[in-house]
Amino acid sequence: MSVSEPALDLTPIRLNRRFSQRTVVSSRGLLPTLYRSAEICQKLDITNGELHDWMRNGLPYQQDARGHLWFEGQSLAAWVERVRETWPRQALQPNEAYCLRCRRAVPLANPVQRREGQHILHIAQCPHCGCTIHRGDADD
Ligand SMILES: [Zn+2]
Repeated sequence: MSVSEPALDLTPIRLNRRFSQRTVVSSRGLLPTLYRSAEICQKLDITNGELHDWMRNGLPYQQDARGHLWFEGQSLAAWVERVRETWPRQALQPNEAYCLRCRRAVPLANPVQRREGQHILHIAQCPHCGCTIHRGDADD
């Protein structure tokens, strides 16, 4: 059985489609066991093409002598989480900003607004760690 090395450097990630919420939530429920590709596609609500897209972008997998692909559940879940960290803006709600220190979306409370060319910058303090957080919006 050959094992692909987990990618240490995940950039650049160029997935054709971002993860759906169902994919993210379902990945967290995977067990520390090996899954066939069809099981992964069904559980995570993705197509086989998307799964191969993930593999091209560093998803760890194993291939047996018959050419079947196997995916270890918790390695897959960890990969999904790490990829999501490279997409901080994706998880943001309209009233959230991304805190670089906490490495997650936090509520944008009482932001100060400042115009920066074509953008409006919302500046506030992270309610968890107190550092300054920014959020830019297009001015339209
Ligand atoms: Zn913070």
